[in-house]
Amino acid sequence: MPLIRAWLDSANDPETAFPLNNLALGVFAPQAGAPARCGVALGDRVVDAAALEAAGLLALPGGPLLDRAVWNPVMEAGPAIWAALREQLSALLAEGAPRRDEVAPHLWPMAEATLHMPFRVAEFTDFYAGRHHATNVGTMFRGAENALPPNWLHIPIGYNGRASSVVVSGTPVRRPWGQLKGPDDAAPRFAPSARFDLELEMGAIVGTPSEGPISVAQADEMIFGYVLLNDWSARDIQAWEYQPLGPFQAKATATTISPWIVMRAALEPFRCDTPAREVPLLPYLREPGPMLYDIALEVALAPENGTEAVIARTNYREMYYSAAQQLAHHASAGSPMRSGDLLGSGTISGPTRDSRGSMLEIAWGGKEPLALPDGQERRFLEDGDTVTLRGAAQGDGYRIGFGDCAGQLLPAIDRPDWA
Ligand code: CA
Repeated sequence: MPLIRAWLDSANDPETAFPLNNLALGVFAPQAGAPARCGVALGDRVVDAAALEAAGLLALPGGPLLDRAVWNPVMEAGPAIWAALREQLSALLAEGAPRRDEVAPHLWPMAEATLHMPFRVAEFTDFYAGRHHATNVGTMFRGAENALPPNWLHIPIGYNGRASSVVVSGTPVRRPWGQLKGPDDAAPRFAPSARFDLELEMGAIVGTPSEGPISVAQADEMIFGYVLLNDWSARDIQAWEYQPLGPFQAKATATTISPWIVMRAALEPFRCDTPAREVPLLPYLREPGPMLYDIALEVALAPENGTEAVIARTNYREMYYSAAQQLAHHASAGSPMRSGDLLGSGTISGPTRDSRGSMLEIAWGGKEPLALPDGQERRFLEDGDTVTLRGAAQGDGYRIGFGDCAGQLLPAIDRPDWA
């Protein structure tokens, strides 16, 4: 599919993340102090979709659906409404659109906008579905012989996280305190995490709810869209707490998502297959077609008052399990899935050191510090560091992006008198 030309010039720039092909959805305030409302990214502007609906330029069946500052009502309305939204926006914004003059007053400069959480997260689940990541972490925690747990090639492993901890890009993240015990420590202590990390992931957002088990094909159709996701992780808390029930407080500080939801429809041209299967999957997890996406991803790290450096480049197609497989597995024991559920993919690492999606892997548990261009070294994140995830699918003369998924690490609070 080629670039779909818009009447807004900046949307036709081959470098923009937001051509008319994308129509990414966010929630924005055009100026400081203005109320937040539903918006659509286009070039260097945000289209006030709520205002278009209020003016009658957008008329979604069953509407109004955009009069609250979250996209959940549209997500809940189902695939026919998702398609109608894209069709109507395209008709208003395409080159030669007859109602351009009526729409133009509802475009705001993105650079001046404040971006809010684009949707209300119903529940958050995080998976562990990148083979390179699981192999790297398993090698460090359990040795190369037992790197992949025996169930890993059969089950998309996951755990239930906290929806309340999901924050939008730009929200600072506070270094957590936690229970720590190194292998040589006689006893655990309660202290600030010294091994605080990022995880480069994609998040899949459930649109259509389900009751009972579903097929992979049904799961794929339920997915509304995708975001970039940084699953901040305290490795020292994790190492002590994770057996036998998996991560808990290590993952409870914050999870940052990109401000823009890229709808599944915008990613259709970029579908690709999951990697070859070493052992066949059980039938309920087999995919009827390509379920991953070719999305180039990168992690950038900027020390406080320092220069940003890209520390990893990888691709979403490195995953072993797709979001549709994860969702089908999630529902397999009967758990209803809700509109607004967020599924983290698991850390996306490639096969090489420069494609690893966490500091734990990049600096190999602290043993191989990462040298930054300004001469600093990193084993894990330092106070003041800003981590920014970026991602884009490259089309024929256009790109589909998500906007920056960024967060700065703030120092831990002082020791409370009860601790
Ligand atoms: Ca994770």
